[in-house]
Parts: sequence; C-alpha cells; structure tokens
Amino acid sequence: MEKAPEEQHPVKAFGWAARDSSGLLSPFKFSRRATGDKDVRFKVLYCGICHSDLHKIKNEWGSSKYPLVPGHEIVGEVTEVGNEVKKVKVGDKVGVGCVVGACHSCENCNNDLEIYCPQTILTYDHIYHDGTITYGGYSDTMVANERYIIRFPENLPLDASAPLLCAGITLYSPLKYYGLAEPGKHIGIVGLGGLGHVGVKFAKAFGAKVTVISTSANKKDEALGHLGADSFLNSRDQEQLQAAQGTFDGILDTVSAVHSIQPLIGLLKSHGKLVMLGAPEKPLELPVFPLLMGRKMVAGSATGGLKETQEMIDFAAKHNITADIELIPIDYLNKAMERLAKGDVRYRFVIDIGNSLASTNH
Ligand code: NAP
Ligand code: ZN
Ligand code: ZN
Repeated sequence: MEKAPEEQHPVKAFGWAARDSSGLLSPFKFSRRATGDKDVRFKVLYCGICHSDLHKIKNEWGSSKYPLVPGHEIVGEVTEVGNEVKKVKVGDKVGVGCVVGACHSCENCNNDLEIYCPQTILTYDHIYHDGTITYGGYSDTMVANERYIIRFPENLPLDASAPLLCAGITLYSPLKYYGLAEPGKHIGIVGLGGLGHVGVKFAKAFGAKVTVISTSANKKDEALGHLGADSFLNSRDQEQLQAAQGTFDGILDTVSAVHSIQPLIGLLKSHGKLVMLGAPEKPLELPVFPLLMGRKMVAGSATGGLKETQEMIDFAAKHNITADIELIPIDYLNKAMERLAKGDVRYRFVIDIGNSLASTNH
C-alpha cells in the first residue's frame, strides 16, 4: 500500500491543501525528502497566490489530484544545504518558482529552458523523480535541487518580490524572446491582474510605450498614475478599440477566462505579435483571415527557464521592480481565493507564511 503523505519522507512538513474540486483549502500534514547532496532546504516565509493556483484547486484544467498543496511563488531563508551545493549557503534569501525538476539532457534543458523539457516537473501536483507527489509553497518548508533555486538580492523585499517567480518571469521572458523588450515598441498588456501589473513594470523598464488593455474602467487611474502605463484602453469600448487599430507591435494577453482575441489581433500592426499567457479552461477561437492580412502572429509562452528567472530577478533588483501586493495571513486563504475569482485584488495576494502558518497547526 502507498504510504500516507505524512510518512513518505523523513522531514515533517505542514501546509494547507485543497481536498476536492470545491477548492476549499485547509491544514494538511505531509513530509518532504531529506536534503540530498545537491539540494537546498529553506524555511518558507512568503508565497504568492497565482491565478493558476485557483485553476488547479478547482480542477479547471482537469488534471488536479488531491490533496493538492498549491504555491509556486515561494521565498524564504536557507536552513540546510547538501554537500555539493555551491550556489547558496545557510541564511541566504532564496526562492522557488514553477519548476523543480527536468531531464537535464534534452535540447531545452541544454538551453536552460527546463520549463519546456518534455519531462519537466512542476512545483506542485506533479510526480517527482522518486515517484512521490510534489507539494507547493503554501507550506512551512521547501526543498529543491540547487538548479531550481533562485537567489534574492538584499534590496528586494521578499514579500513583494515573491510574485516575480511566476508572474514576473511569465511577462519578462516573452518580452525578451519575441523582441518586444526594446525602447519605442508599443506594447499592450491585456488584463491588469497579478501577471499584467508586473508586465507593465517590466515593459516600461525596457523603454517600451505601454498600453493597458482592460475590462475594468476603474483601474485606469492606477494604471496611468501609479503603475506608469502610457495609456489605457477599455476593451469593452468599441470606439476606443477602433481608434487604436493597427498600432501595437506586441500584445501580451494574461486573461484567465475565455474571451475573444479577434479585437486584439485587430490592434496589432502588420507583423505584430499577440502572445497568449493566460490559461483559460477552454480553447479560444482563432480567426485566421486577420492573421493572413498583415502577417501577424499568435504565440504562447510559459514562465521561463531558470537561468532567465535569475536574470529577471537581478534586473528587477536593479530597476526596483516588485509586485503590488496584499499581504494576508493563511487563515484568510479561502476568502482570498473567492476574491481572486472575482478579480478583486490589487494586484497579487501574498501569504505571510512565516508569521501565520504555524498557529494553524493543531
Ligand atoms: P489575475 O490576477 O486574476 O488577472 C487576470 C486578469 O484578467 C484580471 O485581473 C482581469 O483584468 C482579466 N480578466 C479576468 N476575467 C476576464 C474576462 N472574462 N474577460 C476579460 N478579461 C478578464 O490572474 P493572474 O494570476 O494574472 O493569471 C492570469 C492567467 O495567466 C491565469 O489563467 C493563469 O493561470 C495564467 N498563467 C499563465 C502562466 C504562463 O506561464 N503562461 C503563468 C502564470 C499564470 P482586467 O480587470 O484588467 O480586465
Ligand atoms: Zn503562476
Ligand atoms: Zn529536458
């Protein structure tokens, strides 16, 4: 018989897990492996709440297995390192994002793109090399191979930079890869949520002209005044859409729900690129004619490789880029998920694991 999660490994761990597709999370005892030669163990201090966590706890992508401990924007302080670890030492501030393993020998791995490895192992709800299930960062302790450990420079506040590990790299990587991280490019960011708001900050830091494309007219003042966007387009306003036709070099779409991409393709210049980043539960319709007439591209991108993630964190530290967060205690988690489902967050929830998790362990 398979061992219970609490007895699979030698190190006791405690977190919050979803038990079924209601998505309700509650305290959960499990275990983590001993620190291997190349492993780094750390005490989790903060963990961001990504909309992917919400999709997963509610089984919206159809692959969830329970109990499921979400969380892939995990930061904390190193407590133990294996004999062969060179990257970090005890006491260092570190983080783990969406991936904790891959084959390390395929073309993608050789190009530092572990996320695109056919055998990539995601941080939670996946099977690790040893056959056990991976559990995410809504938990007190984390262990990972050093390749998957990101170092955090001292000047980045850990709580507000946790979301960079998923939201940050998910926008940074396609901006660079698709040639959009250049001064003067006109970039659209669709959906001003966790991903979108850090996308505005990175695109601005690259010198782009940034337009937020949003369904929420009430986000306009903050987008322009506080986040530094150059303009704001209400995607429900046909006149505004019409006026902006053919003016964008690139558009990054972070929308979590099914929506029409036809208007977005119309906003692109000839040769413009629409990069899909949001992961709606159902396929979207792809209008072909508007693509042909203008040699436009619709593409996708998933987070980024580990090398690039470190580069992104160092870039963020240099340019003082962090997420705008609402720091919550863990017992607010279910309420936070309800609010995230309604788009009621400015702009990322981060769980204060270090100060609130232990008191829920009875
Ligand atoms: P979020 O904070 O909930 O933001 C999503 C934004 O999309 C909302 O703030 C809203 O912005 C807009 N939106 C929501 N419902 C909409 C609808 N029905 N029609 C049009 N716009 C709508 O979510 P997030 O954490 O940024 O994640 C966004 C998506 O990216 C999720 O599907 C997530 O799973 C996915 N994701 C993908 C990757 C990747 O590697 N590609 C990585 C992380 C997350 P406005 O109010 O401004 O319209
Ligand atoms: Zn994520
Ligand atoms: Zn590989």
